[in-house]
Amino acid sequence: MTSSNKAIHMQKILVTGGAGFIGSALVRRLVPNHQVLNFDKLTYAAHPLALATVEQHPNYQCVQGDICDEALLRQTLSNFQPDLVFHLAAETHVDRSIAGPSAFIHSNVVGTFHLLEAVRAYWQALPEENAAAFRFFHVSTDEVYGDLADESLPATELHRYAPSSPYSAAKAGSDHLVHAWQRTYGLPTLMSHCSNNYGPWQYPEKLIPLLISKALAGEPLPIYGDGLQQRDWLYVEDHVDALLYISKHAPSGERYNIGGTKSLTNLALVQQLCQELDHAIPNKPQGICSFSQLIQHVTDRAGHDRRYALDCSKLTNLGWQAHTSWQQGLQQTVQFYLAQAKVTA
Ligand code: NAD
Repeated sequence: MTSSNKAIHMQKILVTGGAGFIGSALVRRLVPNHQVLNFDKLTYAAHPLALATVEQHPNYQCVQGDICDEALLRQTLSNFQPDLVFHLAAETHVDRSIAGPSAFIHSNVVGTFHLLEAVRAYWQALPEENAAAFRFFHVSTDEVYGDLADESLPATELHRYAPSSPYSAAKAGSDHLVHAWQRTYGLPTLMSHCSNNYGPWQYPEKLIPLLISKALAGEPLPIYGDGLQQRDWLYVEDHVDALLYISKHAPSGERYNIGGTKSLTNLALVQQLCQELDHAIPNKPQGICSFSQLIQHVTDRAGHDRRYALDCSKLTNLGWQAHTSWQQGLQQTVQFYLAQAKVTA
């Protein structure tokens, strides 16, 4: 056996939400080496184009379905026989969760319940060796820890849950279900809490692509309140690296924070993004010398958390760290959205 084929053991991997921002990055990474089934409802947030490079690949298949449809999940699991499930399907936009929480309870809480039940039935029927190797990986968020006081230490995995928005409360609910299915039924689970992701193929309602599209249109760049809300940012490919690393190296039942590479206030973020755009776009819309002229403070979001901060030492002690610097990731992200804007112009 050569060292290259020794390194990769082909697995069957089911990804829920594989047409979304992070899920599509995960699927693109997995497909060359693994058989991948993407189970996705294809909501407004799905980006089928993000999968254009893999959709014809013999290792890739997609089932359009809702994770609340337990019968379809059971059938899909039984047909595909996965070794590993990455669960990313969720409603994810905090502003939408405030305007209409129902879809968030449906997909994030009820959907995760049905998925867990379908996965439990599938896992319990597996031969002993396969059942022991099987993993259910639940992808969660740092937002479940809620607002951190300025003086408090970054949240570890043992931090109390204190979600503030309907989105983070629904994610917290799904985390508790996963934990309970692990404790009660022994389902071999893994869980991660990641900070804010950025990179290609994010739906344009999210902060960075929203600001870029508004800047290109010469429109005001809205910043909630004083803009001093502090967030931790991680490049999406680093998140994918971390998920794969944890799935390979972590003991069953563990949870890990992922992030810790760049902490910024929203105001500092928009200023740095404007500098990057100023550099990348010499021909600005008329009357604009710097895109920072367009920054406009707007009424703050209800229940807006001031600070998220993660202690990721458990994951770094396991041997993983991020590779993409903020500067590099921001440049790549801006270049991607500028190229997209040209394609759609
Ligand atoms: P996204 O909104 O870009 O994509 C979500 C995907 O899930 C979409 O393709 C959508 O069609 C699918 N989906 C939604 N409801 C579904 C349902 N009921 N059944 C089947 N599919 C459904 O989300 P994202 O930003 O890629 O986030 C993916 C996961 O990572 C989420 O669970 C989110 O909570 C978590 N997360 C995201 C971030 C971030 O910064 N984006 C940070 C930490 C954790």
